[in-house]
Amino acid sequence: MAEKNAVYLTTTLPYVNGKPHMGHALEFVQADVIARYKRAQGYEVFFNTGTDEHGLKIYRMAEEEGISPEEYVNRNAKVFDTFRDKLQLSFDNFIRTTDPHHKAAAQAFWTTCFKNGDIYKKMYSVKYCVGCELEKTESELVNSECPMHPGKKIETIEEENYFFRFSKYEKPLLELYARQPGFVIPESRMKEITKFVEGGLKDFSISRIKEKMPWGVAVPNDDRHAMYVWFDALVNYISAIGWPTDMERFNRWWPVVQFAGKDNLRQQSAMWQAMLFSAGLPPSKKIIIHGFVTSKGQKMSKSIGNVVDPLAVVEEYGVDALRYYLVREISTFEDGDFTDEQFKEAYNANLANGIGNLTARIMKMAETHLERPASLQAQGFSSTLTDALEAYDVQRAANILWEDIGNLDRYIQETQPFKLVKEDREKGVAVIEKLVMDLYTIASMLVLFLPETAEKIKTAIESNKMPEALFVRK
Ligand SMILES: [Zn+2]
Repeated sequence: MAEKNAVYLTTTLPYVNGKPHMGHALEFVQADVIARYKRAQGYEVFFNTGTDEHGLKIYRMAEEEGISPEEYVNRNAKVFDTFRDKLQLSFDNFIRTTDPHHKAAAQAFWTTCFKNGDIYKKMYSVKYCVGCELEKTESELVNSECPMHPGKKIETIEEENYFFRFSKYEKPLLELYARQPGFVIPESRMKEITKFVEGGLKDFSISRIKEKMPWGVAVPNDDRHAMYVWFDALVNYISAIGWPTDMERFNRWWPVVQFAGKDNLRQQSAMWQAMLFSAGLPPSKKIIIHGFVTSKGQKMSKSIGNVVDPLAVVEEYGVDALRYYLVREISTFEDGDFTDEQFKEAYNANLANGIGNLTARIMKMAETHLERPASLQAQGFSSTLTDALEAYDVQRAANILWEDIGNLDRYIQETQPFKLVKEDREKGVAVIEKLVMDLYTIASMLVLFLPETAEKIKTAIESNKMPEALFVRK
């Protein structure tokens, strides 16, 4: 079968109980680089994100503020929607799990799984972390607390719930992982999830009693229950492309390449895949798992006071400075560190110097010595860059590009065109023209990572004018 010309990419949907944080920025920018790359390769791309808006945590936050959950999520969803402009993210779609079409799809999905015998009711008592909106087993707790949410009380829930027959999908999941070795990237996460599924799967609860938790999608044919937030939210990946009302559209885009954090590994690569099996739908194409953004090796948290607000960084340094740090200084697949000091150092070394300085040097010479803009032909992406991006390794790709930038800098040192042009004008001009062309090629790859900067460089080259400083030294 010929490969489809359509690529469907999605991030996870941030839960709108707060402001966008650095982890969201990381995931969005990583996915955005791949979306831009695929478009540049001639694919049609549908790039999805949005907000996850139901559940107990939001219900309680709204209650605390004395506003309705609707008001609460409307306000916060807007913040995430503006976030994409501030980070220059090239999303094609922004879905909210409170969208009527999504709620209808979640109900249709439930009904399908129910008809297929995978949803049943039983009495249920479980420990629950409201922070994660997840059930916790005793072995996942440290000193009776969720390690992700120290200080938050673990609740015990006892009620009649609907359950999803996760246990039935142990074998299909393991077969999927065996059939598609790169299903989860990186390899270490593929191993982790395989081991988890091999350890046996427990059916999980997918509803809540409405009296206690009314803020959810209504369970079809049972007024007393609302859907568990995860069950409804996961369905967004198919409701976003028209399932079940527009199957032509769905078939055009599905399956999806998903980006998610390591804390989402189980939900995305096991729970969601089992749900798809249950509904008779093909699994996702790939799940790309990234790590956390830490600060001096610690999780960023309000209580420690080490939270860096991505929008404050954009405000001070510009959008491309943040995008640069996230793609190149943070590991694509493992945890990466972000402190103000590290950021400033990287900014000065690789943006103010690095690409900023290189552009200034070349364009100064071009403006002085070239009579007209150089004749331009972008060389396309190097095969090493393409290989890295085909492997979703955004950091490796950025490293390759910055190597090119360093090489071009060295080429200037070696050829000294600013002297050469005075001794032998023709030779000097030829070197400068080559430099401009190479810079143009760099800009046409840089556009995947730093779109605004790449456009400035291209404009400078096309008008043969030295641009204003791309990155002011800090
Ligand atoms: Zn938790």
